[in-house]
Amino acid sequence: MKLVHTVVELREEVAQAKAQGLTIGLVPTMGALHEGHASLIAAANKENDFVVVSVFVNPTQFGPNEDLDAYPRTLEADCKLAEKMGANVVFAPSPKEMYPSSDDTWVEVTGDITKVLCGRTRPIHFRGVTTVVTKLFNLAQPDRAYFGQKDAQQVEVLKRMVKDLFFPLTLRVMPIIREADGLAKSSRNTYLSAEEHTAALVLSRSLKAAKAMYEAGERDAAKITAAVTADIEKEPMSNIDYVEIYALPGLEPVATPMVGSNLLAVAVKFGTTRLIDNVVLEEK
Ligand code: AMP
Repeated sequence: MKLVHTVVELREEVAQAKAQGLTIGLVPTMGALHEGHASLIAAANKENDFVVVSVFVNPTQFGPNEDLDAYPRTLEADCKLAEKMGANVVFAPSPKEMYPSSDDTWVEVTGDITKVLCGRTRPIHFRGVTTVVTKLFNLAQPDRAYFGQKDAQQVEVLKRMVKDLFFPLTLRVMPIIREADGLAKSSRNTYLSAEEHTAALVLSRSLKAAKAMYEAGERDAAKITAAVTADIEKEPMSNIDYVEIYALPGLEPVATPMVGSNLLAVAVKFGTTRLIDNVVLEEK
């Protein structure tokens, strides 16, 4: 496996792979890799001949008071895990390499899809994501790109971008990988104290209960979100940002009664750490 830091080096690797007729899988990440990322790399390795993993803490998707500086950076360990899971190249550029001139060229998906849920408190977040992912798509030229259902709104936004901009690739979405205790794996889990970690288990627990409610026949979205909210509020360390349901695909307003496929998504702070989790509610 090769570690490269520059656009020129990555382009060279990609050109060589293309010249050999290899298919390319891209796994964009911000590093501090865990089993969630590993599952994406493993899928990319299974479905493609050549796998590029990017490790880049993208400054443009962080708001002014967010954790850009504190975000864990563990490149050496990331390279080991990426190699073990079958990556051929790790691309770890500097911010200057990815944003050489100014921040003036943006790729932005507009409309409610980027304004609801995380978009409400993180107004510039998805513009940063779509811009950096476009750059990575142009550099790696993947046949398939891999993202996690953990970031469900990101997936919906990127699907819209791929469709609207005619990117010639398939977007592959992989299931949420969890700790044995149910907490969705996240690079930000390292911020949690032991007490906060235990408190945060309420997220997966309440989502599981919501799924059971849905499977028992409940189709009133307001009743489901009220039950999840009440569950989470019982945990004194929690501070809810949102508990909401939107229709899939595209995060349209949910119907009453609910029909088709719907996303129940939560964002909750434990101490200073904001965690997200979700479950898809749909007929079996
Ligand atoms: P990040 O490094 O947090 O930007 O995540 C990089 C990719 O890994 C994104 O597509 C995430 O959705 C995905 N990912 C993060 N955590 C998980 C998880 N627990 N299970 C599956 N995919 C994940």
